[in-house]
Amino acid sequence: SGGGRYVIFTHSMQALAVARAANEAALRLALSDSQLFVVYQPVVELLSGGAVDPGAGVEALVRWQHPDRGIVPPIEFIGLAEQCGLIGALGDFVLRTACYQFMQWQEFLGDKAPRLLAVNLSRAQLEQPGFVDSVRSILQACNMAPKHLQLEVTESLAAQDENVQAQMHALKSLGLSLALDDFGTGYSSLSSLHLFPVDIVKVDRSFTSQADSSAHHRVLIDATVRVAKSLGMRTVAEGIETHSQAAVIAELGCDKGQGYLYSKPLSAEQIVRFIQDFKHAS
Ligand code: C2E
Ligand code: CA
Ligand code: CA
Repeated sequence: SGGGRYVIFTHSMQALAVARAANEAALRLALSDSQLFVVYQPVVELLSGGAVDPGAGVEALVRWQHPDRGIVPPIEFIGLAEQCGLIGALGDFVLRTACYQFMQWQEFLGDKAPRLLAVNLSRAQLEQPGFVDSVRSILQACNMAPKHLQLEVTESLAAQDENVQAQMHALKSLGLSLALDDFGTGYSSLSSLHLFPVDIVKVDRSFTSQADSSAHHRVLIDATVRVAKSLGMRTVAEGIETHSQAAVIAELGCDKGQGYLYSKPLSAEQIVRFIQDFKHAS
């Protein structure tokens, strides 16, 4: 960091460094030892009169089956993977697994299969040289049409970085779609939405969860949906947990919804049952 400064070392820093090294080694092992797996949360199309179409799509979410700790959520290891250079391999694993699974559903469920697969991206992946090529080759290897894939990036990730923007355009030219995740939580605003080369805006759960209790949040969702529409983008509300939230969200013109009201993240087999049972019920 340059001269003319001092830094303080304490023994707790060493303990932290040792713990991090151990976590890193464990995550490395998890990748090579098949401890990571992918679950899928349904995304439904919001139709008129409160009806939903359960086959709109799914979002792939990674999990770690840790030998001692049980199932570890991504929030506890994505950051670590980014810091220690494992995010490329982790992201590849998720994309490969999910695309392969998506094609299995096509085969098994035919026209009832989920129509879109959403996969989350980390900034480090977008900065990796050759990333666009690796997405292309995974799609080819799975024989999956790019139009069925949606890659999700967060606002902070996509903001005003020329390199990231160029990568996003290159990804789009493969024929897939891009979503802006967690919209509303970052620094960018509605007035800069047009700068993002995205097709879908995902309204963050912190807004959805107050859709039916706070007029302020309702106005923010309304504005987001209107601006997105004016730019030709579609919208997804994340984290819908109650019928009353769903009703407000649908009334505000959001195209799709995702959340515990419809389903928690499921295994690949459970997705099949979710879709089949849903059809029976409706
Ligand atoms: P996200 O992309 O915003 O994913 C949605 C998160 O909200 C998921 O948490 C999901 O389980 C949770 N969720 C969905 N509906 C509801 C609801 O109704 N109520 C509540 N309380 N929560 C709901 P999860 O699976 O723990 O993932 C957390 C974050 O980790 C994701 O947020 C995403 O940013 C990241 N992540 C997950 N998988 C991957 C991955 O493969 N690669 C990367 N780079 N990041 C990932
Ligand atoms: Ca996401
Ligand atoms: Ca999100």
